[in-house]
Amino acid sequence: MPQIKRKNLVVGAGFSGAVIAERLANILKEDVLVIDKNPYTGGVCHDYKDKTGITIQEFGSHIFHTNFEYIWKYINKFTKFNTYMHKVSASIDGKETPIPVNFNTIYDIFSPSFAKKLEDKLIKKYGYNNKISILEFKTKPFLWDKDLDFLASYIYEKLFIHLEKKQWNMQPYDISPALAYKVFIKTNKDDRYFEDKYQGIPLNGYSKLIENLLHNENIKILTGVDFKSIDTNGFDRIFYTGPIDEFFEYKYGVLGYRSAHFEFLECDTEYYQKSAVANYPNDYDFIRIHEFKHYLNEKSCKTIIAKEYVSDFILGNNSVQNKRCYPVLNTKNKKMYKLYKDEAKKVKNIYFLGRLGDFKNYTIDESIKRALEVFNSIKYENAEPLVSALYEDPKEAVKD
Ligand SMILES: Cc1cc2nc3c(=O)[nH]c(=O)nc-3n(C[C@H](O)[C@H](O)[C@H](O)COP(=O)(O)OP(=O)(O)OC[C@H]3O[C@@H](n4cnc5c(N)ncnc54)[C@H](O)[C@@H]3O)c2cc1C
Repeated sequence: MPQIKRKNLVVGAGFSGAVIAERLANILKEDVLVIDKNPYTGGVCHDYKDKTGITIQEFGSHIFHTNFEYIWKYINKFTKFNTYMHKVSASIDGKETPIPVNFNTIYDIFSPSFAKKLEDKLIKKYGYNNKISILEFKTKPFLWDKDLDFLASYIYEKLFIHLEKKQWNMQPYDISPALAYKVFIKTNKDDRYFEDKYQGIPLNGYSKLIENLLHNENIKILTGVDFKSIDTNGFDRIFYTGPIDEFFEYKYGVLGYRSAHFEFLECDTEYYQKSAVANYPNDYDFIRIHEFKHYLNEKSCKTIIAKEYVSDFILGNNSVQNKRCYPVLNTKNKKMYKLYKDEAKKVKNIYFLGRLGDFKNYTIDESIKRALEVFNSIKYENAEPLVSALYEDPKEAVKD
């Protein structure tokens, strides 16, 4: 008897779709059709080299970072990474200084004597190499100190409140002060934005990495094809990484996202700014500037920057500048998503995943993790898989 090869349809060729397709094809040896409505693969991580030789990340900066060793091992089967550690600066009163705030920031912003005073107080109270939320300075009366209270208010005003307003279109009175728990000070000189053990940029870019994941004789890829135009009869399973509300024809409403659009500029200078990303919390209408050549240390006498503007995603507006980027995780949307999630549980053999399918602000490693978990729930039919099984060797893995 010939072995039955199941047929799978994967909707979306971003990280989530590419990982699930790779597993089905490589491990289960099943047939997979991957479709994407974009004319390219890679989803929101799509990148390309432009005429200056600089790799442009079309939808803004993407830095791979994870603390999951098994995900690092898995993804390294498909690409080599450089040893890039992400640094972000913020423009405060015209000065470019590192964030998250650490002693380097404090010395950049304040006079040397006041900076030294703050450093001494922070070390005395919290020790060296700690991370303290600015709320700590505000809410713990027994630790209250007028200089640290000033520092907390300064950071809240200059680095947090106006950035939140630009990012989420919220008025200051709508922003709960409790959200400031996200803003912290590091009592060291560590300028890194992420502290994950594994960080880097794929040496040949994200699009090439996704191409490598999808490189398998059992996988067929169709770009420029919308799910709506596909006859789904004949597929044993569907993996849907598009927007879950669109799948259910918005029967419970439209899930809210913030959209980001990018104004690209070629500049006749070797470097535009010190780090790959510079935030502009208070000035201008854009929220940040990305400078791409930092990522792969690409050499050119020119540089390419992108100014990022964030606005509401509007359903039905087909402009390329209107995209679902950041899910707005407010109470209304969370309730609405729950209704869609319950609906999704009722449909058989359709699996929802990815940042749009799950309505989650996944990082790349979280998207991969989720796709591996969905794969394992199929392979082991809900039995608890061994962690090692999550990164079983794909025999035909391709590396650049
Ligand atoms: C602006 C921005 C910056 C980010 N920066 C980072 C970062 O620095 N580091 C990090 O770890 N993570 C970052 N992320 C998160 C990361 O991009 C995601 O976790 C990951 O790329 C999600 O992959 P995905 O496949 O789930 O979604 P996507 O990449 O969005 O892929 C979904 C695909 O489905 C396709 N699709 C949708 N509907 C249909 C349909 N009806 N028919 C056919 N195809 C369809 C889309 O065209 C798309 O290609 C960032 C996200 C954004 C938005």
